[in-house]
Amino acid sequence: MRLTVLDPATREVLGEVPAAGRDECARAIEAARDAFATWSQVPVVERARQMFRYADALEKRKEELATSVSRENGKTIADARAEVRRGIEAVEFACGMPSLMMGDALGDVARGVDCISVRKPLGVCAGITPFNFPAMIPLWMAPIALAAGNAFVLKPSPQTPLTARLLAEIARDCGVADGLFTVVHGGTEAAEALIDHPDVAAISFVGSSAVARAVQERAVARHKRVQALGGAKNFLIVMADGVGVPTLDAVMSSAFGGAGQRCLAGSVVIAVGDAGDRFAPMLVEAARNLRLGHGIDPEVGMGPVVSDEALARIRGYVERARRSGAKALLDGGNAPENGSFLAPVIFDEVDPASELATDEIFGPVLAIVRAPSLDAAIEIANRSRYGNAASIFTKDGGSAREFSARIEAGMIGVNIGVAAPMAFFPFGGIKDSIFGDLRCHGKDAVAFYTQQRVVISRWPD
Ligand code: NAD
Repeated sequence: MRLTVLDPATREVLGEVPAAGRDECARAIEAARDAFATWSQVPVVERARQMFRYADALEKRKEELATSVSRENGKTIADARAEVRRGIEAVEFACGMPSLMMGDALGDVARGVDCISVRKPLGVCAGITPFNFPAMIPLWMAPIALAAGNAFVLKPSPQTPLTARLLAEIARDCGVADGLFTVVHGGTEAAEALIDHPDVAAISFVGSSAVARAVQERAVARHKRVQALGGAKNFLIVMADGVGVPTLDAVMSSAFGGAGQRCLAGSVVIAVGDAGDRFAPMLVEAARNLRLGHGIDPEVGMGPVVSDEALARIRGYVERARRSGAKALLDGGNAPENGSFLAPVIFDEVDPASELATDEIFGPVLAIVRAPSLDAAIEIANRSRYGNAASIFTKDGGSAREFSARIEAGMIGVNIGVAAPMAFFPFGGIKDSIFGDLRCHGKDAVAFYTQQRVVISRWPD
């Protein structure tokens, strides 16, 4: 069977990939296991050197990668370039593996006894990734796993598999040995084949919460190490002293960047005090001026959503909200019809208990909730089952400090619309936004892709 990949802006066929069944997945895992036997014996300094070559090769082909991301995902070429840049930063982080893998040592823990800890790779690790960051999320995983001495099998989203294929091809071209970084394509069947295979030691997953939970449970039942990052509903609190153009730019990019299909998308603005009366008209004006079109066109401000199926799901939310009497300031009309387009949607005075304010809609739909105080705003945000990211916009240090201390989110922004940390910090949320303990990239990833051993030694006098 083959999977067809469509350009969501035109519905034209971009390419095809072979769908892997259990047998093909098993073959990829066997090849990975064989490659691991040699690779895990390569000194970490040489493995790091290979990652330097990979970072360099990705850098040289970054425009090709960004074009691939923009075409198959639909996001603007500027967003795609930023994504590729973030992905390369994760490879650069992996280049520091000799320092990152360093253990501890303590001499004379008892008379004549010394103790050291070392980190070892796990074996074959697998990654299952979503459609919304086809380059960056695989690069959060594979380079760190490889630099730590593992082999890696990636199953990307069936909606955006072409970029993943390119990432593996670039790795091979710059010297990554056969079998070390393999891509298998497909949906649930291929993902489950990787989770179930006894030679896969660890699973990294990024996607929606329902699937993250199922993947984590399946992997744990097979005694696998697993990290599963899930969905999100991110709140942007705008204080009265935060209303202004920088906040507008940050909120617009957070809500409508990637057509709202980011796990860090701010999809609820909680306007405190009179902030809403001043901020809502600014948002409507800016959103109305956002130019829709093919993401490859540099003049375009927002591309399509990923598919007609996603479009129908998002429209369902908008329709239900309208039917229930929600106040639409912008209804998503006037979008191009030759692709999966929806123009920005903004609802005001949204009930914080309604699905507009609680569900992950994953599209260009922004809800404005009004709150009388910062205290009330934090309470509304903390009612969410998700805890990926949250931001505050204010000039007041006290408000920012209180927000940072009390908000229940893994990634917290102060005057930042998309609270994405750099590759040397861990990335991930809390509550239903993560299943498993360790997050992606940063020191968490080094811990995830390695196991610690402690050596204790005494030599006779
Ligand atoms: P998804 O959950 O539908 O799919 C993610 C991956 O899981 C795909 O590779 C898919 O083929 C696979 N999959 C689907 N069903 C499966 C099953 N039953 N068992 C095993 N694997 C299965 O997510 P998506 O629509 O591709 O991506 C959007 C979601 O990802 C959103 O919820 C978004 O918030 C989330 N996301 C989270 C983060 C984060 O860091 N927390 C980052 C990006 C995206």
